[in-house]
Amino acid sequence: MINVPLKWIKDTLSLTDEQVVNLPSDTSSDQYAELIEQKVVAFSTDSRTIKAGHVFIGLRGPNFDSNSFIEDVKNKGAIAVIVDTPSPVDIPQFIVKDTLLAYGKLAAKVAATVNAKTIAITGSVGKTSVKEMCAAILLPKGNVLATNGNFNNEIGVPHTLMRLEPSHEYAVIELGANHIGEIAYTTELAQPDVAILNNVAEAHLEGFGDIQGVVRAKGEIFNGLTKDGIAIVNGDSEYKEYWLTRLNTKFNGNAEHVIQFGLSSELDKVAPSVTAANINLNKLGCATFTLHLAPSEVLGDKSAQSIDIELAIPGKHNVTNALAAAAACYSVGATLQEIKTGLLNMASVKGRVDIHQISDSVLIIDDTYNANVQSVKAAIDLVSSYQGKNILVLGDMAELGTDAKRYHRDVGEYALIKNIDMLMSIGELSQSASSAMDKQGEHFTSQAGVITKLNQLIKDADSAISILVKGSRSAKMEQIVEQIIADN
Ligand code: ATP
Ligand code: MG
Repeated sequence: MINVPLKWIKDTLSLTDEQVVNLPSDTSSDQYAELIEQKVVAFSTDSRTIKAGHVFIGLRGPNFDSNSFIEDVKNKGAIAVIVDTPSPVDIPQFIVKDTLLAYGKLAAKVAATVNAKTIAITGSVGKTSVKEMCAAILLPKGNVLATNGNFNNEIGVPHTLMRLEPSHEYAVIELGANHIGEIAYTTELAQPDVAILNNVAEAHLEGFGDIQGVVRAKGEIFNGLTKDGIAIVNGDSEYKEYWLTRLNTKFNGNAEHVIQFGLSSELDKVAPSVTAANINLNKLGCATFTLHLAPSEVLGDKSAQSIDIELAIPGKHNVTNALAAAAACYSVGATLQEIKTGLLNMASVKGRVDIHQISDSVLIIDDTYNANVQSVKAAIDLVSSYQGKNILVLGDMAELGTDAKRYHRDVGEYALIKNIDMLMSIGELSQSASSAMDKQGEHFTSQAGVITKLNQLIKDADSAISILVKGSRSAKMEQIVEQIIADN
């Protein structure tokens, strides 16, 4: 957190004296001056984490009124609160109309004050993976702040920006959304120098109406992009024309501000662009490829460059994620060699194609963090690339709207085309996926049933088996992975 006094809250939120409660009414008194100059140790929206010197921001939710926590946060040492209605508790209070907007405004001010080179990332899938890649590339170059876990919504983004310190040189911020306007809001707070639009897929359709709604919503990321900023756009996406048109208007036709990345051969004719050739997967399913950067005059380069890359995390889908991360890091000054080193050395991300070798012949791949149609297909591609018997264990994909069953059947059909040997499903919707696999599909009504079956298969294995476990967060499929690892 940057070092600010309580007065900074009043100034940043443009509050009148009447909107400040429980400080001496005589603003010229010494006592007032002393209180308003107190240093804020941190801001927090969670009463459980409040410590001495903190300022509590009372957010409002459908099921809670945070004013009921004020006595508690005072007892824990909070020096002031930001609330929408005055509380009878004797603690300095800043009264605002909307505490969430106040939180955003304060966080945006922190971000503007620190002025780290900021990369923002949105897309339906791969945001966290790209974020981790960018952080790994930039870490050796300077002090990096990156979104923790998945704090990517209208509360999570301010939370992340509030963690910025003057020593941060880079910020890598994940922006997610489950409704229109959310990314427009969070990107304005972050004011990125570089904005990545990774992809769109049939994810979280419920808050957007249809896929076009998702395309527009993801495109909102460019609203907050600074006027000298760089947009990184998925050049393979069937929706890219919409984003390119929007960017053309933003940058007055200067295409140098837009770097396209992707695998399609069409991109060979586009500059600036970042593309991949000679893609291969090694034994663990990690890709090697040649990264190619077509010149970008706006970034000071006149000649094309190439470098051989080896990824530390598996799945062909991570090639495009790596291209997006490479384009973004290059835009903030990373060299191709730094990009190569960062991608090679990054740690695996828990729950995202995290490979565990259980024995010489058995691999279990923990991809349980989340699932939607595109990421399940990517997982099927990965598991089908391994030698020996391939098994997909699938829990339900959530938030797919009224066509949910059809989407589950689609992934079952895809698994069949890709010659997956066995699809084990658990959950009401996933049954449509195992049914589509016919004899190679088996449905289970409990995780215990899945675990017993897998343990039996592992025990009987006389050649290689790869088991990929996946499902939406709500399916809690990581419990299966943990049990199989414990049992073997
Ligand atoms: P969330 O919306 O939950 O924050 P996210 O966009 O941050 O998700 P990740 O956590 O990086 O995405 O990955 C989620 C899942 O999608 C993982 O299972 C991963 O294997 C898969 N995935 C990641 N990138 C891609 C991609 N480019 N194409 C298809 N699948 C992908
Ligand atoms: Mg994420």
